[in-house]
Amino acid sequence: MSKIQMTTPIVELDGDEMTRVLWQWIKDILIIPYIDLKSEYYDLGLPYRDETNDKVTVDAAEAIKKYGVGVKCATITPNAQRVEEYNLKEMWKSPNGTVRAILDGTVFREPVIVNGIKPVVSNWEKPIIIARHAYGDVYKNVEFKVNEGETAELVVTDKEGNERRQTILNFKNSGGIVQGLHNIDASIESFARACFEYALDKKQDLWFSSKDTISKTYDHRFKDIFAEIYENEYKEKFEKIGIEYFYTLIDDAVARVIRSKGGYIWACKNYDGDVMSDMLATAFGSLAMMTSVLVSPDGKYEYEAAHGTVTRHYYRYRDGEETSTNPVATIFAWTGALRKRGSLDGIDALVEYADKMEAATIKTIEDGIMTKDLVALSTVENKKGVNSKEFLLAIKETFDNM
Ligand code: NAP
Ligand code: MG
Repeated sequence: MSKIQMTTPIVELDGDEMTRVLWQWIKDILIIPYIDLKSEYYDLGLPYRDETNDKVTVDAAEAIKKYGVGVKCATITPNAQRVEEYNLKEMWKSPNGTVRAILDGTVFREPVIVNGIKPVVSNWEKPIIIARHAYGDVYKNVEFKVNEGETAELVVTDKEGNERRQTILNFKNSGGIVQGLHNIDASIESFARACFEYALDKKQDLWFSSKDTISKTYDHRFKDIFAEIYENEYKEKFEKIGIEYFYTLIDDAVARVIRSKGGYIWACKNYDGDVMSDMLATAFGSLAMMTSVLVSPDGKYEYEAAHGTVTRHYYRYRDGEETSTNPVATIFAWTGALRKRGSLDGIDALVEYADKMEAATIKTIEDGIMTKDLVALSTVENKKGVNSKEFLLAIKETFDNM
């Protein structure tokens, strides 16, 4: 059998620890035997980030801008302990943050669903994809403790020094707290465009929620920006493929999400997305089965697993133990990127490969062969917990027999 040929390279961002080990195994066992893999390789492993003063991360992000599709392995975000462990020159910033800033992107998280691992919410049949606006609001706030008798005001000064001011509260009878929040149109617009782009890409409805009835200027601005961009740039495209844009209040959205069957994209403001994405991940079963894609407003894509480098497993692996680390989200990052590349370049065989590899992964688990984290969750009979390499080889066998 001849290998599938590619025309444009995928931007490959290697990473750290256990996921770096899985990365190589996934390529060796599930990709390279079938695809003449063209990739532009960037080593985002912490030693090389340190060696290049983190330039490699910036270069990788620029390459995604150039080629349009990247796939990323989980990476260590250094803290004080890592600085010591890796003898780093500096506490380098989160690579995900750096890439997101350069691409001006939005992160969408999607669970992989398999029979036998039921979401906590029993009527969820399809994934719910959640997008979080990753700028501003309470994450870039200014806040004070206020003493009794003080007055808090909101003041905005224009370029000429003219002030607009409004009393927030005169803390006459009690001290308290006060907080200033902001967001900017440019960021909300990028967020909205990334959401509309991804809805078109997935051919799924897009929901957006905020609290505009209470926050008549702030949250209402989000609602208006989404509505304007939809009307002017996306309405026709949505109608053409039969998908919908739907705005509702955050509390109504939460109620509808719980009652739904799934199968749509839910765009959330920063705080709502922070909280709700953790709720969805837990309710769908396992962080190891959660995939993630960064989408820029002009339609560039970076695929990855939502989990980290699985440090605890890596230390055991380094000591010569076999580990049963779940590679599913990382496999789906690769298939996501290969499918996207295939559809951009008109290579049907690549799209078919991605579909088949995902199906083979799911079938292997549904047939009862899985990593140990899933054994605890799955209700299939005669299930067997295997180590990572055995699991990858089982997927290959399933794939070859499909
Ligand atoms: P983590 O790597 O996601 O792992 C947390 C725990 O979740 C693991 O110890 C493991 O539990 C379980 N787990 C996660 N993924 C799994 C998988 N694929 N298979 C089986 N079990 C899995 O999070 P962390 O320990 O907080 O972070 C470790 C490193 O990853 C940190 O240096 C952090 O900076 C980095 N990180 C990177 C990214 C990214 O690049 N996107 C995201 C998050 C964290 P048990 O040990 O109980 O088996
Ligand atoms: Mg959170």
